[in-house]
Amino acid sequence: MKRLVGVSNRTAAGGPKAGGLAVALWDALVQRKGLWFGWSGEVAGTARRGVELFEEEGVEFAVTDLTEAEHEGYYLGYANRALWPVLHYRVDLANFDEEQYDCYRDVNRRFAKLLYPRLREDDLVWIHDYHFFPMAQDLRDLGWTGRTGFFLHVPFPPPEIFKSVPDHRALAKGVCANDVIGFQTVSDRDNFAKYSVAELGAKQLDDEALSLDGRRIAIRAYPIGIDAVEFQKLSHSEEAKAAIERIEPFLGDSRALILGVDRMDYSKGIPNRFQAVGRLLDNAPELHGKIAYTQIAPPSRTKVEEYAELREQLDSLAGRINGDYGDLDWIPIRYLARSYNRDQLAGLYRIARVGLVTPLHDGMNLVAKEYVAAQDPEDPGVLVLSQFAGAAEQLKDGALLVNPHDTAGTADAIHEALTMPLAERKRRHEALAEVVFGQDIAWWREAFLADLDPSGNGSGSVVSLRG
Ligand code: ADP
Repeated sequence: MKRLVGVSNRTAAGGPKAGGLAVALWDALVQRKGLWFGWSGEVAGTARRGVELFEEEGVEFAVTDLTEAEHEGYYLGYANRALWPVLHYRVDLANFDEEQYDCYRDVNRRFAKLLYPRLREDDLVWIHDYHFFPMAQDLRDLGWTGRTGFFLHVPFPPPEIFKSVPDHRALAKGVCANDVIGFQTVSDRDNFAKYSVAELGAKQLDDEALSLDGRRIAIRAYPIGIDAVEFQKLSHSEEAKAAIERIEPFLGDSRALILGVDRMDYSKGIPNRFQAVGRLLDNAPELHGKIAYTQIAPPSRTKVEEYAELREQLDSLAGRINGDYGDLDWIPIRYLARSYNRDQLAGLYRIARVGLVTPLHDGMNLVAKEYVAAQDPEDPGVLVLSQFAGAAEQLKDGALLVNPHDTAGTADAIHEALTMPLAERKRRHEALAEVVFGQDIAWWREAFLADLDPSGNGSGSVVSLRG
């Protein structure tokens, strides 16, 4: 079996704590005794350091610190303030700074230089996400010719939007140095294909292949999954039960929990969600006292400015709605600006009658899948899902899809979810569970690796992306 080399900004050194990517890549690297290369997570003065090498459970790690200037320019700057907003369709929030772009390019080159001497001829290189758009090209420039793949965890927007990045061509050309480029959805893949044909002069060979400079590039959708079985188990854990016990007094005998769980980010559409709940209370006085919407969204360290504004907006919206509708014994919206661990979240998902997942744009959205995995199949809750979450492509048959900009429509969907008969809830849940358990994180990894390593001595399993 060929050695796998994973490249991602954050590695799972210290053991994978949580999250799809960390766990998926960790398992693959343990299986293949692979190498994981990336940022150490440390910011070190001004002196550039080389790589630190260590091993955990047979996985080799090679990590390097960022200097303060790199952390500012490459990570907080270009990746977070230019690429993240554009890739989430928010050109209005993007800040393009030439120096930060130069820094991003330098970091990619520096990382490639550190990695290249550690590569062996037969390695498979798997690069992750928008932090490393040009990495494959930088490795090629150093002489690397082996199989190399890239997976974009966030959306790829339509060409008109991506073209707002001043250096869009250099970034996209860099990505095209990969043999396989993976996206979360067919729509992201098609946006990229359209862009590459129009702007790079690529030729579209078929839906899943481009040709550029005489090379064939596979482009394909591999929707990322979760470890659904594990998450279902978590929903029965002691910590899950304890969390349920803590929230139960607040729900009383008859109050339905509506739950939102997000990282605090403008892409998540939390203010829109608050407005929809406000509209629901306008429209349905019979629900007063009968629902409890809890929104969990901890502050983010790296997005301080955006966070402050969002936070103010949420405080004021929640304050107004609670002021208008709350009563001595009822608070309609509870907004918790703190974090809960996965066990606790799994328990809360399990008793939530409605999972409210309404991002304005999202690569996939794993919260939607976790919500499904945690439900009791005999009495499942209902997933209200944004049509702009990557997950909507897979979950459209079981979820109630909404346009998060449509306040009235979202309010109606929440109402429908709250009043849905058991038979329909079960039918919808079955459709959702089939996807979430069938196309889980192992399925995602094997699907990508099968394409990255067509010589085929992967796990031997036949993977169908058609579900
Ligand atoms: P993103 O990658 O943009 O944060 P996802 O929904 O795809 O969005 O993944 C988020 C992951 O982080 C999920 O596994 C989820 O359980 C976890 N998470 C999100 N919000 C919170 C929160 N408020 N507290 C704890 N964990 C969270």
